[in-house]
Amino acid sequence: AVKDSGRAGYLWYSESIHAARKRRLTIENYLPQAIDHNELLLHYQPKWDLKRNEMTGVEALLRWNHSQLGAVPPSEFIPIAESSGLITVIGDWILRSVCRQYKEWQISVPGNTWSIAVNISGMQLLEPDFVERVRTMIEEEEVEPSRIEFEVTESFAITNFVEVSRVLMQLSELGILISIDDFGAGYSSLKYLCKLPIQIMKIDKSLVEQVYESVSHQVVLSSVIDMAHQLGLIVVAEGVETEEQLRFLRDQGCDRIQGYLVGRPVSAERIVKKDFAI
Ligand code: C2E
Ligand code: MG
Ligand code: MG
Ligand code: MG
Repeated sequence: AVKDSGRAGYLWYSESIHAARKRRLTIENYLPQAIDHNELLLHYQPKWDLKRNEMTGVEALLRWNHSQLGAVPPSEFIPIAESSGLITVIGDWILRSVCRQYKEWQISVPGNTWSIAVNISGMQLLEPDFVERVRTMIEEEEVEPSRIEFEVTESFAITNFVEVSRVLMQLSELGILISIDDFGAGYSSLKYLCKLPIQIMKIDKSLVEQVYESVSHQVVLSSVIDMAHQLGLIVVAEGVETEEQLRFLRDQGCDRIQGYLVGRPVSAERIVKKDFAI
């Protein structure tokens, strides 16, 4: 019986590897046409400012709807876009779309001051002409750079510290704000963190969701907020889902929150109508 279950387990394992490989190949096959076929779309998730008690910006999140595959999550296709090199083209499409959305809101929403955050893949940051392309796009689309935030994951910034900090410095000189995304999700190197040219820290949802598990989780979260403030950073908590988490974050002086408690990522039209509640 032991032998049998071992063999069944092996078969299951090899079949699931086979299925995963097939799925990956299918995505690699379909992804290059996603832009031309109009299958990519940006959704926007509100960022709520706890001091001003209003939505002060959004984060753009990429969506891919394929006729046969349905909705493919970014956590699945972004890594494939990175390893295939397609992220350059897709990343440019995202940036261009964000600039156009900015302009559209400037017209359709009177007195609009929302910032738009966009996730930047590490591969994009390392493209030799990335900063130049961003500069050109911002000029062509007449976007105020201080209303654009680039979110860069902590793990990528730390493991490629020298190159990344140089590029982030150049982007900062253009006037773009830089956020460190998913802070606390991986190995945090505080030595590097305080040397990166960043203005905003986004605390990963894993730190937020554990806050009522124990006092020590609360100590970690409140210490991270204090540290970020002492480094002069704006603090955003990600993945806020409950009133308890909100209360704790407010008490600790967290500046902004993002999460299902405030709103899900929705279409640009629904952002304007404030139609993002759960
Ligand atoms: P991220 O930048 O950390 O984005 C936050 C993710 O958490 C989003 O997932 C969002 O929908 C989800 N989220 C927001 N609030 C909550 C909450 O209260 N609870 C929970 N459980 N989740 C919440 P999404 O849209 O699936 O994106 C996943 C990741 O994919 C992003 O993590 C980002 O790393 C990447 N990604 C998404 N869009 C883009 C893009 O345009 N470009 C690049 N390079 N990466 C992107
Ligand atoms: Mg992000
Ligand atoms: Mg994040
Ligand atoms: Mg993430």
